[in-house]
Amino acid sequence: MTITLNGKRGLIMGVANERSIAWGIAKAMSEAGAELAFTYQGEAFGKRLEPLAASVGSDMLVDVDVTDDASMDAAFDMIAQKWGKLDFVVHAIAFSDKNELAGRFTDTSRANFQNSLTISCYSFIDVAKRAAALMPDGGTLLTLTYQGANRVTPFYNVMGVAKAALESATRYLANDLGPQGIRVNAISPGPMKTLAGAAIAGARRTYKHTEQNTPMRQNASLEAVGGTAVYLASDAGAFTSGEIIRVDGGFHVLGMPQPENLVM
Ligand code: NAD
Repeated sequence: MTITLNGKRGLIMGVANERSIAWGIAKAMSEAGAELAFTYQGEAFGKRLEPLAASVGSDMLVDVDVTDDASMDAAFDMIAQKWGKLDFVVHAIAFSDKNELAGRFTDTSRANFQNSLTISCYSFIDVAKRAAALMPDGGTLLTLTYQGANRVTPFYNVMGVAKAALESATRYLANDLGPQGIRVNAISPGPMKTLAGAAIAGARRTYKHTEQNTPMRQNASLEAVGGTAVYLASDAGAFTSGEIIRVDGGFHVLGMPQPENLVM
């Protein structure tokens, strides 16, 4: 079977710049033959996105803040008007107050807990509901998670709880939407150098640690994550749903650091 997205149309949410995971996925999906539309958050990100979107032949760009229903309505109305239906959506969106991606998890504030969970988890449920209405022939929904959902990762804090909720939402959505032929999966890459990644205290140490210890001895690339997204959105991934697919070079199998990196 050839893995292709020829004839498929999808919405990519979460490109901030050329380092964004959403951009790595968009590029790979475009190379595989997909036609793409994009959302961006605010004018500054919109300006950065324009040339990137143009490079993959897209001029369907819409400003969306996932906490703003009117902007979500506008995005899905645009898709409905221009395409009539949708084959896949990539949700690569997360946010927490940077001040709480440092220090103790115990000090998480109610306001930031609510905002982080709303943006990083609820938005996927909202997107799924809207996208499913445009997927009469089935489709694929993808989100991005991180192993901090299951294992304590210093300073990941409230984002770990948000990702645990997102992973659970992935399973519940997969069950609700399965009868409609919609598959729902999450990709879990190891740490990557992006704007969101850099907001977490100790990010450099984390990149170095995973690079030196993961079985593949390197960090995840945009191409590796993009390839996994292409597979999941393609007919080759036609029976995978409710899954958390790790793209971390095998880091999750480790019980302890490699011997050469142990400090005794
Ligand atoms: P990024 O900063 O490039 O992308 C994050 C995106 O979220 C940005 O485009 C931003 O505009 C968007 N966003 C935040 N709040 C929003 C809101 N209210 N409305 C609309 N958009 C909003 O960083 P990234 O690392 O590419 O992040 C993409 C996804 O990948 C996130 O879910 C992140 O948690 C996840 N992830 C990242 C890593 C990593 O190490 N970078 C690892 C695993 C998972």
